[in-house]
Amino acid sequence: SVVTRFAPSPTGYLHIGGARTALYSWLHARQHNGRFVLRIEDTDRERSTDEAVQAILDAMAWLDLEHDGEIYYQTKRFDRYAEVIDQLLAEGKAYYCYSSADEVEAMREAARARGEKPKYDGTWRPMPGKTLPEPPAGVDPVIRFATPLDGVTVIPDLVKGDITIANSELDDLIIARADGTPTYNFCVVVDDMDMGITHVIRGDDHVNNTPRQINILKALVGDDGPLPYYAHVPMILGPDGKRLSKRHGAVGVMRYRDQGFLPSALLNYLVRLGWAHGDQEIFTREEMVAHFDIANVQGGASTFDPEKLLWVNQEHMKAAAPEALIGELAWHLARHGVENVAEDRLTAIAAVQQGRCKTMAEMAEQSLFLFRDVEDYEPKAVKKHIKTATPDLLAQVRDALAALDAWDGEALAAAVKGVAEGNEVGMGKVAQPIRIALTGGPVSPSIDDTLELLGRETTLARLDQAVA
Ligand code: GLU
Repeated sequence: SVVTRFAPSPTGYLHIGGARTALYSWLHARQHNGRFVLRIEDTDRERSTDEAVQAILDAMAWLDLEHDGEIYYQTKRFDRYAEVIDQLLAEGKAYYCYSSADEVEAMREAARARGEKPKYDGTWRPMPGKTLPEPPAGVDPVIRFATPLDGVTVIPDLVKGDITIANSELDDLIIARADGTPTYNFCVVVDDMDMGITHVIRGDDHVNNTPRQINILKALVGDDGPLPYYAHVPMILGPDGKRLSKRHGAVGVMRYRDQGFLPSALLNYLVRLGWAHGDQEIFTREEMVAHFDIANVQGGASTFDPEKLLWVNQEHMKAAAPEALIGELAWHLARHGVENVAEDRLTAIAAVQQGRCKTMAEMAEQSLFLFRDVEDYEPKAVKKHIKTATPDLLAQVRDALAALDAWDGEALAAAVKGVAEGNEVGMGKVAQPIRIALTGGPVSPSIDDTLELLGRETTLARLDQAVA
């Protein structure tokens, strides 16, 4: 059965490209009733931080890409790596190498001079009939993997098609450093093997590592042993055709939360970046799981389009059940200091605002008037709408509203309409002054929605304040 993994290096926040890889891996596992493993590749201790681990976990949780089973940390698996290194040494598939860094550089230089690929020259590699040099005193050796000298390695790549590499092009990779710590490419192989990974879905910046990893894996499981499929996903480019980076604006997933995107919209946008299902643009999670096909991911790079993301977000906001929006709404309100809002209130606000706003951040901002006293009235709006209104219009509105038994949309609309008719003016001539009195400015949801959301007490108090 299918097992995929997401294997971030915790050297920073989860970026858009990583999130897409995680999504593809998650989708592939979910649609095959498989497992999705989360593995933290923290062997680079200089660059890995606990904060980055937490940032990645937070982003995965926000995106709701839930993993199966425990989270693996490579730094907790050093005993296991040591065991496998011993095994390879014992089987003659790896060897100690005492060449100094300078010597290796000279070997590479010599290869370059011969017009060959720069490579370690195999000085310390045991060969039948070969006598190895005497190990120099006081030198801690590295351990190298004995890469097959001939033949080819084929990467079974679901996105790019089979990729074939001549083994003669490949170096005898260092699998343990002089201080005994295992190297990155080696740990990945042991992990993918131990965790039973069937599909390695990752960025195509790793494609050069893959033949090396496959050779190590074959040394462990045998030439006929199970190899995973690979899917090397092309990178995401900025509008200028260069790899997406901070220069292009936000790349961290959680920055998109700050900006008010819904996780479902971000995932929808990312799934379409490099994959299509007919001309369908909007996908729920269920639809993504049903239709996604890793084999249909395109091989070429895709370009990040912030305008389209914004459009997808609006579509998700419009289509969502209001209850589904209240978590994000509460989070954005809290950023403005508005907290502990009851769920049914949040739901009512989301229902009114979901079609009017492009982002959840905007929804929160456009709803702050509900929670804050009106301190200033926009002078231009006052001049345009209140100064020109019938004298005591707002007082009339106040009395009409105060007389209502039920504070619901229909009754409110009827009351406002009654005042408009009584003064022989259009609805707008009444609604705008009310809106400014209640919110301080000329923009808010429809007047009956605004009144209903604000509630009787606050509405009457604000009208009193405006009239005074
Ligand atoms: N840790 C690697 C990264 O963050 C991913 C390695 C892999 O998926 O094999 O780029």
